[in-house]
Formats: sequence, C-alpha cells, structure tokens
Amino acid sequence: MGTKVCKFGGTSLADGKQLRKVQAIVQNDGDRRYVVPSAPGKRGPDDRKITDLLYLCHDHAKQNIPFDQVFNLVADRYRQILVELDMWFDIAPHLEKIKDEIADGASRDYAASRGEYLCGLILAELLGYTFIDAADVIRFDTRGQFDTTATGQALGPTLLKTEPVVIPGFYGGLPDGSVKTFPRGGSDITGAVIARAIGADVYENWTDVNGLLMADPCVVDNPKTIETITYRELRELAYMGATVLHDEAVFPVRDTGIPVNIRNTNQPNHPGTMIISSRTKPITHGGTITGIAGRKDFTVIAVEKALMNKELGFGRRLLNVLEVHGVSFEHMPSGIDTMSVVVADAQLKGKLDTILEDIRHECHPDVLEANPHMAVIATVGRGMAHIPGMAAKLFTALADAGVNIRMIDQGSSEINIIVGVETADFEAAVRAIYRAFVE
Ligand code: ASP
Repeated sequence: MGTKVCKFGGTSLADGKQLRKVQAIVQNDGDRRYVVPSAPGKRGPDDRKITDLLYLCHDHAKQNIPFDQVFNLVADRYRQILVELDMWFDIAPHLEKIKDEIADGASRDYAASRGEYLCGLILAELLGYTFIDAADVIRFDTRGQFDTTATGQALGPTLLKTEPVVIPGFYGGLPDGSVKTFPRGGSDITGAVIARAIGADVYENWTDVNGLLMADPCVVDNPKTIETITYRELRELAYMGATVLHDEAVFPVRDTGIPVNIRNTNQPNHPGTMIISSRTKPITHGGTITGIAGRKDFTVIAVEKALMNKELGFGRRLLNVLEVHGVSFEHMPSGIDTMSVVVADAQLKGKLDTILEDIRHECHPDVLEANPHMAVIATVGRGMAHIPGMAAKLFTALADAGVNIRMIDQGSSEINIIVGVETADFEAAVRAIYRAFVE
C-alpha cells in the first residue's frame, strides 16, 4: 500500500456539497490517509473566505469595535455546512471558545488559524479519521521560522501511531505553545511538510482547476493542461506569474523527490498535472515545450559605451547603483559595448530619474536610455534542451505574427527561452508561440 497526502483548498471545502466530494475522493483510494484541509473558501465570486472574515474579527477586536456580526458570518458558515452534510457535530463550544479568545486579545495568527482548525474537526468526523492539531506537530522556532527538525520529530512518531489522520493546514505552534501561521495560502506548505515527514509516495494538491495550463487562459483560448512538469520548469513558469501552488510549498517535496499531483475536486477523474523531479523520470519530451508564461510592465535601462568590454569594473559599478537604490533586476542582456538591465516597473517607482543620474555619474556612458513598456515572455520546456531548431521556430512564429523582439535571453540550462516584446504585442506574441508549438 502506498501513502498519499491530500491537501484540499478552500473552494474544495466551501460548502457541504464540496465536502461530500472531498469525502468521496478520500474514500475512493485507501492510500489517501493523510488529509490537510484549508479553511472554507468562496462559494462564488461575491462570497467571502472564512480566513478573511477571521482576520476581520481580530482587527475589530483589536480596535475595540464589536465583531459579533462578522463572527456570526463565520459561525453560520460552519453551521450551514453541518446542516448540508446532515451531520451531528457539536460545534457550539468550539465557536464560543474561539469568539471569547479573540475578544480577550488572542493573536491575529490564532484568529486566522481557526478557519482550518474548525474545518479539520468537521472533516475528521466526516471521514472517521483522527484529528491532529497542527499546533502540536508543525513546529516554528522562537524567531518564528519554520523548524524542519522539530517538525520531523513531532510528526513522525505521532503520525505513524495514529493514521489515518486529518491535520489542518496553514498553521503550527511556536515553542511557547502559541499559534503561528504560514504566509497566506500556506496550507500548501503544510501538505508538503507532511508529505516529506512521512516520505509520501505522492502529494496530492486538490483545487478547482485541472492542473497547470500551458498558457494563461485569458490570453490563449482553452489552453491544454500540462501533464508533467519538472520542479525546475515550474519555477521558471511560476516566476513569470503562473501559479497554482504556493512557492514555498515546492521546496520540501522537491528536495526529497516526492511528486506533486495537482487535481481538481470538481473533476476527480481528470489526472491533473504531475510535478516531478527531473531525476526521477527519463525525459521523453524531445522537441516539445511545457508551458508559456509572461509578465508585463518592465523597463529596460540600456547603457552604451565604447570599449566597455575593456573597462574593468563597469558592470559592477552599474549594478551597484541598482543595489544602492534597493532595486533588483530580472535580466541583463549585453553586447560588446552595451549592457542593459531589465527591471520590473514596480521596483523603479519614483526612483528612475535618480537611478539614471547615478549611472551617468558612476559609469560615464556614451548613451543612456530607459525604455518602458516591455513585456517578458518565457517559453519553458525540458524538451527544448539540446534540440536544434527550437529557437528558430519560436522566432519565426513571432516574425510571422509581426512581433518585434526587443530582447532575447536563454538560460544556460536550455530549458527556457525568454523574449522581451512591446507590451502592446504581448498577447499576440504568446498566442503565436502557443500556435507554433502546441496546436
Ligand atoms: N486559509 C488560508 C488563506 O486563505 C490558507 C490557505 O488557504 O492555504 O490564506
């Protein structure tokens, strides 16, 4: 028998109907013995997430503003879930205790964590699994950093004795016993941490989409689902904005080679996307791409100076100006007498003129320009490495679509080709690449 850790996101737990789907998914596979729930999420576009309501309760209480009304929204949601499930569970004392503690000045993290806590209690009851409070097994150190060693020590023996279990996501405990949460969306991290601690065969991350898509559905019509993707490719795509999984959730499982399977609670028969370590499976994707992602709103700071290649320390002085202003750069394409840095506009807000002034002063360039309105597109795929003609195909597709390329960058790993285009050409460029490689 294998072991699967199943994390269910907020929309998978939004109401009684969704919880029934979760129950069926878990009961359908005897390997699904470690279940990590989020807090109930939105039931529709105008709905509220339980976590947001709990933060609101805390913020009201802190300002001495009555929070009964907001808390009732939370309490009603759980009561309604129990009615919809036609299930008897005495939630009243739990709700009362949480309300009292928030009123008595409990921490913001504590208040927020109760969404997962209550959801975990109900789910454990529904599945007939043992409930384990995450505060007892997911450990943080005195500085509030996640403590891998202490967590491993707490989780290992507890889980082996007690599975099948439900452990709420998103929070854990500090050494003094108080509750500490991961960043928002952190139930993904809890699932990954548990998967690593027990050496799971698979970490299933159940959400409301059929996995990762090959391109943004707002740009490309009905993009295909990515069947398998390596952690490195995922990192490249996530950096460009494609996310389903919390960034920090990748590391605990990646290091141990545990595959992550993104699945859809609303379409449980769809295989979803499998995220694998490139070491675990032979690469059989020659000539294909895995996905396309991109971001708008970059500025290129272009510097030109004759004999730049001979001038010792030129690059350092240029980058030092950025560092002094606390600005990080994304790419640095260069030529014999030119060097440009591509910087996200958000980094430059209110600083561009001073930065240019400082570059002039430090580097004495012949020409210095700031070109705004650039978009960056990454075409990513392990199947591109060592295959001749991939770049040609990409550039031909862009040329045929009438898109001018302003920058080209290929990582040495050869799993990505990055192009910079005018923001106005962004959508056309992504579609052209998708058509050339996928359709
Ligand atoms: N419920 C938390 C949030 O809304 C954590 C999570 O869902 O992963 O951020």
